[in-house]
Amino acid sequence: MPLRDRSLSRRPDRRLASADDPVDTLRGIGPKTAAGLAELGVRRVVDLLLLLPRRYEDRGAVVPVSAALQTEAPVLLRGRLTCSGGRYVRGRLHIADGALVDDTGRLPVRWFNQPWQVERLADGVDALVYGVVRTAKNGRRQIVNPEVTLVGGETEPDDPVPIYPRAGGLGGRRLAAAIDQALGCLDGLSDPLPEHLRRELGLPELAIGLASLHRPSGPGTVEMRERLVTDLNERRSAAHQRLAFDELLTVAAVVERCRADRLEQSTRPIRPTVPLGERARDVLPFDLTGAQKRVVAEIGRDLDRTVPMARLLQGDVGSGKTAVAALTVLAAVDSRRQAAVMAPTELLAEQLHRELAAVLGRAGHRVERLTGSTPTGSARRVREDLATGELGVVVGTHALFQQGVTFGDLGLVVIDEQHRFGVTQRQRLLDKGDAPHLLVMTATPIPRTLALTFYGDLELSVIDELPPGRRPVRTVLRGPDARARVMRFVRSEIADGGQAFIVYPRIEASDDDAVAALEAHEADVRSALDVPVGVLHGRLDRAEQEAVADAFRRGELPVLLATTVIEVGVDVPAASVMVIESAERFGLSQLHQLRGRVGRGGRRSWCVLIASDEPSGAAEQRLRLLETTDDGFEIAEADLRHRGPGELTGVRQWGPEDLRFADLVRDRGLAARARAVARELALRGELDTVRRALLDLHPVGDRVAVG
Ligand code: ADP
Ligand code: MG
Repeated sequence: MPLRDRSLSRRPDRRLASADDPVDTLRGIGPKTAAGLAELGVRRVVDLLLLLPRRYEDRGAVVPVSAALQTEAPVLLRGRLTCSGGRYVRGRLHIADGALVDDTGRLPVRWFNQPWQVERLADGVDALVYGVVRTAKNGRRQIVNPEVTLVGGETEPDDPVPIYPRAGGLGGRRLAAAIDQALGCLDGLSDPLPEHLRRELGLPELAIGLASLHRPSGPGTVEMRERLVTDLNERRSAAHQRLAFDELLTVAAVVERCRADRLEQSTRPIRPTVPLGERARDVLPFDLTGAQKRVVAEIGRDLDRTVPMARLLQGDVGSGKTAVAALTVLAAVDSRRQAAVMAPTELLAEQLHRELAAVLGRAGHRVERLTGSTPTGSARRVREDLATGELGVVVGTHALFQQGVTFGDLGLVVIDEQHRFGVTQRQRLLDKGDAPHLLVMTATPIPRTLALTFYGDLELSVIDELPPGRRPVRTVLRGPDARARVMRFVRSEIADGGQAFIVYPRIEASDDDAVAALEAHEADVRSALDVPVGVLHGRLDRAEQEAVADAFRRGELPVLLATTVIEVGVDVPAASVMVIESAERFGLSQLHQLRGRVGRGGRRSWCVLIASDEPSGAAEQRLRLLETTDDGFEIAEADLRHRGPGELTGVRQWGPEDLRFADLVRDRGLAARARAVARELALRGELDTVRRALLDLHPVGDRVAVG
């Protein structure tokens, strides 16, 4: 990037970095730090400028100690800070005590595991101290591990002071110094947003925005300054909005590109002679629900077009997605086209194969399996029959997109994508046909904003109705003390003909925390229940996993101790109890999935969530939602708000956790504008230029394979 003469730098004598230079061009950044930063995706000077301050300090807003003693809010204090001494307790923990003194009073300060403070602060220093004053167990008001900035005698600036996080092995202060130099390149920075758009949207220029985030300068009055600091700290400043918008537009532009590419493709329609809804009566032992009928009609219309279908089918566990998939596959093979159905695990492929073979068998179609454990001989036969077109339907795992698997005429790809399949992996399967139709299924309901943002290139179908006769699963939250009672309950359910799952977040115990582990509990469970107990987790080999799952399915093992491998797949009508240990370790959507494993037969069913500690506070509230609702969308929305583990994004390799500046809940409005802008750019022929410029700055789309 060329650098113009005019420069914001205060050091005109040095050769200035340009935005595209590697970060180690900057003084104070050597190869080691550069390597640490690279892990954060920071390779160039401009990437460094996208590391924003963690917070901003309003030095004009120093609070007197006397006032700080009365409040629970974070405070900035100024005074003489001393540390009077430290000691080790229980061998490892270091405790140091000291105080901050100003004209109005004395505030005790305590440091945990910062032994260096003893020497550093022995003589006392003038410092700014930031933190929250809390009441200790003994009733004393004190501040613990505060942030400390040393200050000299000079008067403090009125401008908010940016405080940087540690990043890639670089301490906050060294990062600030590096950014100071990097700001020198702002003048030459090109803006990925065309000016007309910026003006239309009322967003600041990128260079100006970045300058105001790293070197905010406050206007006149106290109120205005306070307002500025609040806006910055709440990430609502115009500059923050600009970055959030850019990031959302990056996603929207990538999605728009995928959509446009798809619309340009052309394929042969699949036109069954009998409409799918009617064909259902020949092959399914039940009537479709209203929601299934609607979705089947949507799919029928898609298949009828020359643009290949790309549809995402969402529906809660047990809502009947498999039946819909079976009908879609039937449409393909009835029309003499081939269908490939891909599942993420062997166990799931096995189950899906059984279900599809039953339905399609009634129409006289053969369905074969192809997975990593298919014996060589039969795998070869399946591959041959697929290549000649002899075989209409194959269900499998990753083995399906290997080289050597070819199709005579692949017309439909179905992906049961409850867990992650890469976009590229999916593409490899699609490439085995001539723009085949695509149906992706997910049991995780995706909230609307998220769906529109990340999946806008797919058509969405939702099955929002369960088959008749389902009884909702009663869900209760308990503490660890209730475990013995829960086991008695499980025992009585089994005596009554029920079956139970007990799910653990981990297999082995680790010494330093309270999380329940399967192996640590196994003996206790066996002796408490006194019935045959099966154990199922990912470390067992395939054959063993299948044998245990089968024995449980047949009822020979009334209890299954498992990890989340059973989250999807194991479908047992008699299962009526789901116990989940250390439930707080799971995302709400994941718990909802697990709970969907029971209540599939006519029995009244239960889900018991056992928390590691007596449930309290926010963690409890989060889990209690499951006691009160059965609505997968509501649960998914709550997960999104709580930033649960990235459960919501199973269908993509990227999702909200990749957004650095935007927040899908807070920035719903911006996300909608970004989508509209991406369409507009496509119409004006500017989409690709803007998309490439944005992708250069926002790696959010990094993992999506588009050119
Ligand atoms: P999903 O794949 O969405 O989890 P499935 O397709 O496996 O759900 O359906 C769950 C169970 O409900 C299966 O046993 C299936 O046979 C049954 N089922 C599906 N649709 C209906 C329906 N319309 N009426 C009655 N039972 C149904
Ligand atoms: Mg299913």
